[in-house]
This record gives sequence, C-alpha cells and structure tokens, in this order.
Amino acid sequence: MGNYAEFYRGSIDQRDAFWSEQAKLIDWHQPFEQVLDYSKPPFAKWFVGGQTNLCYNAVDRHLKERAEQKALVYISTETGQEKTYSFRDLYDEVNRFAAVLQSQGVAKGDRVIIYMPMIAEAVFAMLACARIGAIHSVVFGGFAAHSLATRIDDATPKLMVTADAGMRGGKTIPYKHLVDEAIRLSANPPEKVLICHRGLDPDMALVEGRDLDYASLRAEHLNATVEPVWLESSEPSYILYTSGTTGKPKGVQRDTGGYAVALAASMKHIYTGKPGEVMFTSSDIGWVVGHSYIVYGPLIAGMTTIVYEGLPIRPNPAIWWKIVSENKVNIMFTSPTAIRVLKKQPAEYLKKYDVSSLRSLYLAGEPLDEPTARWISDALGANIIDNYWQTETGWPILSAVPEIEDTPRKFGSPSFAAYGFNLKLLHEGTGKEVGTDEKGVLVIVPPLPPGCLSTVWGDDARFLSTYFSSFENELVYTTFDWATQDADGYYFILGRTDDVINVAGHRLGTREIEEAISAHNNIAEVAVVGVHDEIKGQAVMAFAVVKDPSRTSTPEEAALMEKEVMATVDRELGAIARPAKVHFVTLLPKTRSGKLLRRSIQAIAEGRETGDLTTLDDPGALEQIKNAVAKWKAGK
Ligand code: AMP
Repeated sequence: MGNYAEFYRGSIDQRDAFWSEQAKLIDWHQPFEQVLDYSKPPFAKWFVGGQTNLCYNAVDRHLKERAEQKALVYISTETGQEKTYSFRDLYDEVNRFAAVLQSQGVAKGDRVIIYMPMIAEAVFAMLACARIGAIHSVVFGGFAAHSLATRIDDATPKLMVTADAGMRGGKTIPYKHLVDEAIRLSANPPEKVLICHRGLDPDMALVEGRDLDYASLRAEHLNATVEPVWLESSEPSYILYTSGTTGKPKGVQRDTGGYAVALAASMKHIYTGKPGEVMFTSSDIGWVVGHSYIVYGPLIAGMTTIVYEGLPIRPNPAIWWKIVSENKVNIMFTSPTAIRVLKKQPAEYLKKYDVSSLRSLYLAGEPLDEPTARWISDALGANIIDNYWQTETGWPILSAVPEIEDTPRKFGSPSFAAYGFNLKLLHEGTGKEVGTDEKGVLVIVPPLPPGCLSTVWGDDARFLSTYFSSFENELVYTTFDWATQDADGYYFILGRTDDVINVAGHRLGTREIEEAISAHNNIAEVAVVGVHDEIKGQAVMAFAVVKDPSRTSTPEEAALMEKEVMATVDRELGAIARPAKVHFVTLLPKTRSGKLLRRSIQAIAEGRETGDLTTLDDPGALEQIKNAVAKWKAGK
C-alpha cells in the first residue's frame, strides 16, 4: 500500500504517464498514439488513435480465463425470478441481441433509446449497442411519456428497446404503453420498437410494422456471433440525459476509450474489486451509477454483478442482506436515502444474515449525513465510503482511494480529490481561491480526466456555456456545488449553487417541474423549491398561483386541485418529480426585474432566515409563503 497524496500528485503532475499506465487495464485493438489531445480547450480527447470496444472489454476478454464464472445474477423480488449468467452465457446473449439490432439496420453511430425495467435484457441491450458501435441512451423507467418524448427528439434514435411492463412494490407499471404515448408526442419518432415481453401486460397493443417481438427475433439469431466494432477512443459510447436549471435536459455524451480506462481504474483503486468477486449496486440502469457500477465497471473488472429489480424493504427489510449473504457480495453500492429508509426498520433485520463477505459499502448521489454513516458502519462492520460525483463525470470526483492508501474517513466528508481531478474552491464573486474551511464553488481545472463527458450531445456551445462560463478570470468546469476543505484536506459538500433539487439522490430541475405543473390549465404561475426531507434529503415543494381562484377557495377544493397538479406532474415528468406539497398563493416573491426569489422561498419553507431582500418587489408575496408554510406545518 502506498501513499495516496503521492499517487494523486502523479496523476496531475505527470498526467500523461499516469493515464498511460492506467490504460493498460483495458484491452486495445489498436494502441493509442497520443494520451491526450487538448488542442481545443476545454474539449479533451483521450487516448487518441486507440481503438477499443466497451463490450469486448466487459465480456469477450474474460472468456479465456473465466467463461464459466458468474457474470450477472438477476434477482427480481417483484416477479420472483432469479437467473444466473456466466460470462459465456452473457457473451451468447449479447451476440444474439447485437444480431437482432443489426437485422433491423442498426449500425455504428445510430442511437438506440433503452426504456426498460431492471431486467437482464436491459443489460444485454446496452452491451449489444456498445458491441456494434451504436450509441445507447437509457431513459429511467420512472420518467413519463412527455420526458421520454423530449429525449427521443434530442437523440433521434433509430430504434427503441422496451418491455411490456415493469413492477414496483407489487404493482405492474406499463412501459410499452408509455413508449406508444411518447412516440405519439415526438416530432421525430424511431422506425422500430423492440419489445421484451415479460407476460406482465397481456393487453399490450402492437403497432404493425413498427413493433417487434424480441423473443421471436432472438430465436432467429440463437447461434449468431457479431464481431465487435472497433471504435476510435473518443467516439461516443452513450448519451445520458440529466437535469439542470433549464427546462431542457442535457445529453451527457461519453466517449469510449476514456470511459473504459476510467472505470477500470476506479474499479481497481477506489472500489478495490478483484476478478471473481461480487458487486451489488442497488441503483437503476437509467442513472449514471447503473451505467458505471451495475453494468460496465464490474464487468470490465471481471466481477459478478447483481442486477436487482425490487425495493429494499420488500418482502422485508432484510432482503438486501439476504442477497449479500447468498451471493457472498464483496462490494456494495447504494444511496444514503436507501440507508435512511433501512435505518427506520427494526434492527433485527440487519442481524438475520451473515454479511461478513462485505468488505465495503459505497454511498453516493447526495450528502451522506454523519448519523446515517455511523449507524450503517456500526451495523455492518464494513468500510463506509462516501463518493461525491455527478452524471457528467461518470466516476467519483471525491472519494477515499483505499486500494492505494486506507486513509481514515471523516463521516460527513467524501474525503479527497480522486486522482486525475484537479480541484479548486473558488469564491463565487471574486473567482479567487478560498482559504481553509471557507465556502467556495467546487470547480475542476480542465482538462477533465478520462471518463467525464466529452460534450453535450449535439450542442458544443451548451457544453461551454453551461459548465465553463461561471468564472471570467479562469477556464474551469463548475460542479455547481458549494464545498469547504478542512486543514487535513478533507472536502465537505454543502449543496448546489443552482436551483437543482436532489430527491433521494436523483437530480431534478426546478424549471422542468415548474413547466410540468404549468401544463395544468388552471395554473398561472408556479415556483418550485427543494426543502429538507429527513429520508430523501430533499422533497419538492410547489407554490402555485391559480387562474381561477374559485377552484381553491375551500380547503376541500384546494386539496382536489393539489391532487390534479400532482397528477399533471406524474403525467408530464413522472412520479419521481411529484411535489410532496402544493401550496396555493396569489402572488410569488420576485425581484423588481421579475426574477423568482427561489432561495428566499426555500429558506422560509425550511424555517431559515431569508437573508437580503432589498430587491424584493412586493413583501406581501413573502408573507403569503410564510403563512402557507405555517398553516401546513400546523396541520401536518
Ligand atoms: P447526479 O448527476 O444526479 O448524480 O447529481 C449530482 C449531484 O448530486 C452533485 O452535483 C451533488 O450536488 C450531489 N451529490 C452527489 N454525490 C454526493 C455526495 N457524496 N455528497 C454530497 N452531494 C452529492
């Protein structure tokens, strides 16, 4: 074991040598000629001229040494299904899927939207796209038709992959039906929809000539082998949409070689995963954690990955520990929200199973509060490692790096800058570096390391204006997070600098939710803020001005109206963005120039001081917010 500070310095000061060494962790069809092309800052091209393939690295290269080892264990506590795939089985399934895609004319560079529940076929679909050089864009199954349509129009996929339905908490959730609706709303729909029929929605309607049955096509390609398509390192592997402050989600574009190297390196140094070991990441393939640490990361590392469809508390709150025990899980990855949910359950569930195989639990996506970290650390007796990162970076920006040095953890801090990330904390106004324990905006000095977004899909200008335009005096990538660093070098994340809300580790844009609420015909204007929530970190709260006040004049009518607004959000964006509470007011607090004072609204909703209000147009608006919140708290 070495010294992390030294390892880190090497990654910054001898950048090319460092990444050239890490690049040996993957297989290259053709070696690269140049480690980094940074001739057009801040656009970075890693491993120029090298040719590789993500699917080859995740599957084929393991056939020599571990063909019969488990690659993927699928467990659904919703349907009761469990299935194990060895690397050979995975190879066969991915080849079949790739052959089916090719039979429908999908080729290198074509986009494929995957809108799937957590089933093994979703992973086959991703790997099959990577195999043939098609660019996948997985859309989280919780997003509604309208959100899906926006992503279809931006990515313009040639084909979509879906299932008849998913299940959550014992309830069937239609997927194909939603795809139909999204295609109806889309200006540029795909030609084909490939459906994995699980027998969950017998009434599913089919569109002649467009809808294809995966099982029948698979049967036609049972013995197919499809050669991997070798991609130049910086060619795109996938697009993953994420929310920001505008109403339009951004397509985070990932390259191929840089991502493969970044994941292989993180599996080794940060996650300490060894070939043959087992990793259980309880996210969803629709999120970045799913891409990196359910699918590509563990498979590239030759590990067994657990793909789980179900909740953490069903059939009982011991289900995860049962999975850990039965599968001898070594590394686990989940969200602080999930742990807070489990913390509310009787302690005996954690003692039911032998979880001694578990070496470390990684938590990411939202702040990990100290009591939660301490509770799970005591309960499991495993290392608890807080990771801070973003959809954009694809792997941790801040983390302990235990394979290099087992540095002591401070609960409440995701430790240090991960190797390759040159970080600074800048004063919001002056752009100068802040001192020890002083609050600043966390920025990354470019070039961004391998694995990070290469641009915003189809919009280089947006890549620059969104991420690289916050400070005039220096070209830096802003994370949009406030942070401090203590005298020992540990970072503490204090929350977003923008209006992005983080519910249970999922990023939601205020504008997106406001636009969804405004789709209700009785809403004139609305402000959405994130307020502190004990379990989910934050909850969505809306303050709406109605067009026809007679429809909210009694508490009963207001309750009905609130339900309608919630249903509108479910329909437009998905239940994941549904406000926990909608307050009705007649005026929203704004500056004289008409800008919504979201931070003041949020402060009131959380019972904090509002700060400087000299620019407020009409103080009566804030009074209304105060009254609404007070009334709600009294009635809660
Ligand atoms: P997403 O891209 O959806 O994963 O959201 C990224 C955002 O989640 C970051 O910008 C942070 O605001 C927050 N976040 C992620 N991980 C952590 C963490 N370990 N601690 C605090 N905040 C986090």
